Amino acid sequence: MVPAAIEAYAEALGRVGNPSSLHTAGRAARALVEESRERIGSALRARPSEVVFTSGGTEADNLAIKGTHWARTAVEPGRRRIVASGIEHHAVLDPIEHLVETGTADVTWLEPDRCGHIGVEDLGRVLTLWAAEVSLVSVMWANNEVGTVQPIGDLAAVARAHGIPIHSDAVQAVGHLPVDFAASGLDLMTVSAHKLGGPVGVGALVARREARLVPLAHGGGQERQVRSGTLDAAGVHAFAVALDQAVAVRELEAKRLGDLRDRLVERAMGLGLGISVSGCWHPGDLGGRLPGNAHLLVPDAEGDSLLYLLDAAGVEVSTGSACQAGVPRPSHVLLAMGYSEREARGALRVSLGHTSTDADVDAFLAVLPGVVERARRAASRS
Ligand code: PLP
Repeated sequence: MVPAAIEAYAEALGRVGNPSSLHTAGRAARALVEESRERIGSALRARPSEVVFTSGGTEADNLAIKGTHWARTAVEPGRRRIVASGIEHHAVLDPIEHLVETGTADVTWLEPDRCGHIGVEDLGRVLTLWAAEVSLVSVMWANNEVGTVQPIGDLAAVARAHGIPIHSDAVQAVGHLPVDFAASGLDLMTVSAHKLGGPVGVGALVARREARLVPLAHGGGQERQVRSGTLDAAGVHAFAVALDQAVAVRELEAKRLGDLRDRLVERAMGLGLGISVSGCWHPGDLGGRLPGNAHLLVPDAEGDSLLYLLDAAGVEVSTGSACQAGVPRPSHVLLAMGYSEREARGALRVSLGHTSTDADVDAFLAVLPGVVERARRAASRS
């Protein structure tokens, strides 16, 4: 969390009052929530009434997918098909797969090109073919593993031309890329506070007033009757403070992180270890790939070995692959981009954030050759 959000969070946690209560403390908590809603709406260029607070990105994605699908199929049972990109986060993939497995939806996955981009023409073709059957389109704004940024405005224009609602998981984009909900043409957009310097466990689904959503949980009817549960006044306040700050420093911070990333990637590739960067990359690219994401591919090594060896050397990175029941599986994102299982196994996602410095990049590069050598030795033995 950024210090300003920690301070705001701690101060608000000390207050009493349920924002739905009518007494003085309740009204004060409500005022804090509504003021935060206005700040968040203005930072995202959305109307305050379009901001539906949730417990984070996962819940907002589930509400967008299931809520829209249930609402549409209730009035048009023939609209069973969801169109989504094959590189979504599991918070989008899994609710869709759940609907398919329970027999209430069909799905068409949009596959990316080798750079990780979803084609606007591909979406057009799919919607021309299936338009009368589709309930919803969902394409993430920026990918959490490889950092590729999608042409959201163009994709939204295609969905709109077919009269189909479109959702975007913008968890990785907000605070790091320019995000204007009104201008995007989206109907629904997911945001999570902890990816932009705010607390874990709070986020929002930004939903146009016309968006029809069946709630996931029923109860007190808070948040336009679509998200029941006592509002987390301290959490949304800290979310608003963090988002304001992220948007205010975004351009400068993107440039700073982009420079760090470029140095990290260029020097890692120059180590003579055969390390490459996934997809399409060129130095200085702040709009096509997330500035703080460096996604490396290390041949002949397992991502998990690299992760543990780097961790032991004081560098915390991620592989991006899912480990289910202890069995590491190559990333579905890299496989969808056309990489082989073997290539995808050596994936390393290095994230840079507001605390990252030149010295951190130097420390990573200093330990990398030794780590790669040990990981390769381990891979050759298994
Ligand atoms: N969507 C994307 C793209 C993410 O990167 C994440 C978190 O890593 C989520 C959704 C889930 O958000 P949360 O952790 O707030 O539930």
